[in-house]
Parts: sequence; structure tokens; C-alpha cells
Amino acid sequence: MKKLSFIPILLFVLFSCSPDEERQAPTNTVQTTTPEPVVVQYTLTVTVSEGGSVTDGGIFDDGTELTITATPDEGYAFVGWEGSTATEENLTITLNSNQDYQALFELIPQTLKDRLIEIGYNLPKENPKQELIAASSVPQELINDFFEVQSSLNSTIGGYDNYLMVIWDTNENSQNVIDKLKDLRFNESEGWASVEELGLSCLTGNLWYGPGEPDEHDICINSYEWFLNPQFNNHPQQNQKSLDTYHMYAHEYFHAYQGRSYLDKNLNEDAPTWWIEGAALYFQNLWMLQNYSKFSKLSGLNYERELTNNGRSQAENYKSFKRIFQGIEEGRGSINENWYLTSLEESYQTRDNNTQTFVEIVVAYLAYITSPKIAMIKILEDGYDLGFEGSFVKHTGLTYQEFYEDFNNFMRSENPNSDPPLGMFIKGDINEYADFWDIKVKTQ
Ligand SMILES: [Zn+2]
Repeated sequence: MKKLSFIPILLFVLFSCSPDEERQAPTNTVQTTTPEPVVVQYTLTVTVSEGGSVTDGGIFDDGTELTITATPDEGYAFVGWEGSTATEENLTITLNSNQDYQALFELIPQTLKDRLIEIGYNLPKENPKQELIAASSVPQELINDFFEVQSSLNSTIGGYDNYLMVIWDTNENSQNVIDKLKDLRFNESEGWASVEELGLSCLTGNLWYGPGEPDEHDICINSYEWFLNPQFNNHPQQNQKSLDTYHMYAHEYFHAYQGRSYLDKNLNEDAPTWWIEGAALYFQNLWMLQNYSKFSKLSGLNYERELTNNGRSQAENYKSFKRIFQGIEEGRGSINENWYLTSLEESYQTRDNNTQTFVEIVVAYLAYITSPKIAMIKILEDGYDLGFEGSFVKHTGLTYQEFYEDFNNFMRSENPNSDPPLGMFIKGDINEYADFWDIKVKTQ
């Protein structure tokens, strides 16, 4: 109410000015000079679509020539001007009317490779996004175990995002598993209706399931049944079951590590199977020997032969295969004195399935003639750019064929009961001789 009382005063002031102004205004002017020409001005209005910036418009004299410049943001491209047919980022205008221009940009579609690099798919991290999705019937103890082991693996190999361990059980107990995989559009193209159809699929992921948006997860799918009898080894004792389970965790996570450096390329189609499997076996045993004493579930397992995946120490396994190749020990399956490492071991389709306990020695030999760091890390750094064999040649100086010949000769020479040469199976802190955190993948 109080404010209203000011209004009459203000009005009075305004009205009282008017007579003065009128009085001061000239009433009669004699022009003695040429009048200033009236300058017409126009407005240049410049706007911008999402994805970039543009120089300002404004008010300018008629006939002014101006250049406006559009600049796209990173990831966008300039596509043209609304208001002009010009296609250059610099648009020169002669202003003779009010004019309107909008700089137009569009998102440059990202390649899968660029997207993977952008999200750090191939870089180890301190706190990676990793998950375990387990059926409701899976005991909490098993879940805790996974994270305990995974934490050790992360500190050794490096933490890679989007690693997903899946443990399914009956359909009714696995709704969260189903929801998660549907969310990730897992194997959407093939389609699946029940968890049984998932089977045991490790390592898998959406990067290699088309069509549609690839989802950059590495997924390890297991059934709870598998954990009750890990590796189908029928080990009665709990510490042996845990050992088999932990070996699987290490082995599969190593496969995830191997694949990451290949980004949008498929490692399985380029690297030889003997190396993919051999390096995973070689690593899992080195890691287990370094870390077993930290895991309470493994107590009672103290000897190297109990801790490796073969039930034999790495050295014993090596000697045994040497004896087999030299014809003084009975062969194992199809591996006997007439068996040679050849290019058949380069693909999952043509390899001999009896080699799974043997290819570890091939990679150990590779580590021996180069170094564990080269055999497990450096060879991957150049794989994307050079192809795996190109990288292999660069780091060993040998073609695959030359390497196979050397290896076959090595296994057939010298006393098979001598210890493996130094540098084949190294004990101690893995990161001291092969620092996985230091991987520098080259991508052109
Ligand atoms: Zn494997």
C-alpha cells in the first residue's frame, strides 16, 4: 500500500519535463550545408546448430562486406549454411538487407575402434567396472571368492572395465541373469529363451555377436553346476575344487586381457591358438604359484605339482613332454614321438585338442628365447598394427615356421630329465619381469 503514494509524484515529474523540451526544440532551422547522407543499416543474424560455433552477427551499414566463420566441435563436421547454398566454413556476405544464417553441423559417426579407444577398452584401470551376476541360489561365499580372486588378477594383469562373470542356475532362480543379458542385448541376433541355452560360454561377449550395436563386454558364462564340479575334474576336496575354479578365473580373465589390445579386431582370427591358449595357461600357473598362499580356500595345497593346472609342476610337465617326444615315455592322447608342432595348431578348428596341457610349454619356450614380457605383453602391443605374425617376427626374429622347427628340435634334444633352462618358468612377482600395467598398445 505504501508504494502507491509515489506514483503521482513520478507522473508529475514526467509530465513536467515535456513543456521544457518543447520549448528548447528548434522551431526554425536554416540549412546552410549539404545534409549528411542517411546511412541505412541492416541486421545480420547468425545462429548455430548443435555441434559447433560461429562468429557473431550484428548491425552494419548497407553494403558492408563481412565474412562469418563456422567451426565444428570435436566429433562434428560442418555441413553448410541455412540461408545460403555455400558449403565453405567461411561465408562472405555483402549486407544489403536484413539477413539470417545458421551454421549447420552433424555428428561424425564414430568407428567402433574410436569408440573403444574413447572408453579406454584397452587400458588397465585401478577401479574397473566388473560384475558378477549370479542366480539367487548361488551362495554368497562363491560370490565373495570371485571378487577376492579378481582383485588379485586386476592388480597383476590390470583392471579392465566391462568384465562380467555370469553364473546361472535354474530358470526360476536366474531371472536377474536373464534380465542382465537381455539388457546387454546378449546374442540377440540368435535369440535365446532360457538360461540352459546359454550353456558354458567363456569367454564370450557382444563385440562378436551381430548385428546391432556392439556392446563392449567380455562375458564369462558358467552354470552353478559347473562350480559344484569345476572343470568336471571330480575332485572331492574343497581346496581342489577352489583351485580349479581359481584357475578358470585366471585363465579366462587373461583371455579378456589378450582380446582388449585387439580393439575392434578379433584376436581369435589373427593370433595362433597355441599362443592364445598357451599364454593363458602359462600365466595362470605363474599367477597361482605367486598368490596361492593368500587364499584361505587353498590351504593345504603347497606343492607346485598340486597348484598348476596339470597336477604336475611346470618343470615336470616340461620333462614329461620332452621324454614323450624323445620316445622314452608313452604319449598322451595323440601326442607322441611323431607329433610335431605345425601350423595346424594355429586355429581352433584344426588344432589337436590334446594339446591343451602342452601349449603352455610352447609359450614358455617363447618366453625363454625372448622374455616373459615379450611373450605375454610386447607381442600384443604390435599385434593390432602389424598383425600377430608381423609382431611375432618383429619380437623374435623368426617366422612361425622357423619357430616351430626350433621348438620341435629343442624338445627332441638334450637330456629330457634336465631341469628346464633358466627363463622358461619364472617364479616370484610377475610384475617384476612382466609389467602388464605398462602395456602400450599401438593402433596406428
Ligand atoms: Zn582358454
